[in-house]
Amino acid sequence: MSVLVVDDLRTSLQINGGEYHAVREISFSIEEGETLAVVGESGCGKSMLAMSIMRLLPSVASITAGRILLDSLPIEAVSETGMERVRGAKIGMVFQEPMTALNPVLTVGEQISEPLRDHLGLSRREARKAAIGLMEKVRIPSAASRYSSYPHEFSGGMRQRVVIALAIACHPRLLIADEPTTALDVTVQRQILDLLDVLRTEGKMGMLLITHNLGIVAGHADRVAVMYGGDLVESATVTDLFRNPAHPYSRALLASLPRVDRDLSELASIPGRVPTLVNMPDGCRFMDRCPHAMEKCNSMPPPADVGDANLHMVRCWLYVQGGEHAA
Ligand code: SF4
Repeated sequence: MSVLVVDDLRTSLQINGGEYHAVREISFSIEEGETLAVVGESGCGKSMLAMSIMRLLPSVASITAGRILLDSLPIEAVSETGMERVRGAKIGMVFQEPMTALNPVLTVGEQISEPLRDHLGLSRREARKAAIGLMEKVRIPSAASRYSSYPHEFSGGMRQRVVIALAIACHPRLLIADEPTTALDVTVQRQILDLLDVLRTEGKMGMLLITHNLGIVAGHADRVAVMYGGDLVESATVTDLFRNPAHPYSRALLASLPRVDRDLSELASIPGRVPTLVNMPDGCRFMDRCPHAMEKCNSMPPPADVGDANLHMVRCWLYVQGGEHAA
């Protein structure tokens, strides 16, 4: 059974009386124990997609079409209070900067104990024991004695381990990790990603991994979704995408990487920039940067359903019947 199904999702922003689509007709699913990496430059809609799934959108944004099923539960039918419970118990979240997820005036142990009492109904004593167990699980040394330490007494890597302990405390079905290691040095990055892999497999969780780093995608994801301008432009297994990138944007990303551990935010070899939401072209959103752009790319967005979303899907007129490369 799929842990997460996103079906034809559209998230729109209201800006100065106009409606702009920040996420446009996106479909994918994540299975138990699977990691889907979402990649693309800044401004491509990756975080807006994650916020849509968590229903943590800014006030100007709303989901205007499509559905999101979390463990078969349609989240649009869940009340705001119910969503707080879903976020605490069914979705674990790990963000780039652990300090934003932690309360500086509470000990790390108290913070890990809180959801155990709130969502699992454990007593204070039981929650303390379980929290220490979680701290051991995420490999925080001397867990029992560090229960009473404050976040500022931990290094960046150890703080991220505390956030991961919090994220998995209630056995979530889905883990959303948004640039979870960007703020950490390379050695600690690898340790945290390896830890997430182990916990995901053990807990049979699905993981949505948002990253700029194609090295992380290659080493830690099963499938990859490439986003551009709020569109899902290509999705495939990691092996398939690295060997046979089809969309001109995916090809450009990979071609401009002499080493796969370079950061997408540093790419200079794709001319131009992601257009802002209010300046998106009517047709294909990659059109201004695409070396293969044709007349119809200008007038109509390419259809989203070329190929199979769970095998190899590409959203480009080149692959539609009659296009240059159509099968
Ligand atoms: Fe390029 Fe046209 Fe494909 Fe867009 S639809 S990526 S402009 S060829």
